[in-house]
Amino acid sequence: MKYDIITIFPEIFHAYLSESILKRALQKGLIEVKVHNLRDYTKDKHRTVDDYPYGGGAGMVMKPEPFFTAVEALYPDVTKRRVIMLSPAGKKFDQDIAMELSKEKRHLLFLCGRYEAIDERVRKVLVDDEVSMGDYVLTGGELPALVIIDAVTRLIPGVLGDEHSAETESFSWGILDYPHYTRPPVFRDLVVPEILLSGNHKDILRWRRKEALRRTLERRPDLLEKSSLSDDDYRLIREIKEESL
Ligand code: SAM
Repeated sequence: MKYDIITIFPEIFHAYLSESILKRALQKGLIEVKVHNLRDYTKDKHRTVDDYPYGGGAGMVMKPEPFFTAVEALYPDVTKRRVIMLSPAGKKFDQDIAMELSKEKRHLLFLCGRYEAIDERVRKVLVDDEVSMGDYVLTGGELPALVIIDAVTRLIPGVLGDEHSAETESFSWGILDYPHYTRPPVFRDLVVPEILLSGNHKDILRWRRKEALRRTLERRPDLLEKSSLSDDDYRLIREIKEESL
């Protein structure tokens, strides 16, 4: 997977990409990340990327020319690029979008906004997807770009050590993850559920599925409506409901 990021703060990315799973994915050549400074695509001596908003009002607006110059210089062939603009007005990012992006053959090119906004003509002409992190306002698009790169990279085959771990994580089954425990078996009188120590893999799988369903039922019942549940799942849900009577 090839990611390009256009930003006025390229230094932000280095620390996050130099650790852990993303670092290993880069080393193994499973992903490639190029960070481009938007100011390198300006033509004036002050390397200006923003200007006053037409119509007045607070804040500055990012100029269209540097974005057009950068995107067209990096990927002149529109069929080779998928341009993602980070914006609170975009589609809310979730695991389905991450999954879809992880299968993308084109390069993912992220446009990170700053100030009040990016000039609307950039969105109209260059952008394929406008993606939001959620209903809150951040200072810039750099953290959202990293969040997307992180979530997408985890889904690329070979990135996670254990091929199964991405499949059982929250949302990949359409529901939340089950509770996890490690040693010691008793910590401050808090005991690990006995079944997890039993060595009976069939029972452990059933327990995990049931606890994942319980958690989803309690915290995110909306997810259950969208996920495809089996007959066994419905049996487990009935059990959970009976237990809470
Ligand atoms: N004036 C904008 C508004 O009210 O929607 C907010 C601009 S924000 C200060 C600057 C930049 O941060 C945006 O252009 C966008 O790239 C990024 N940003 C802020 N919040 C975001 C979010 N929730 N999701 C994705 N990007 C966000």
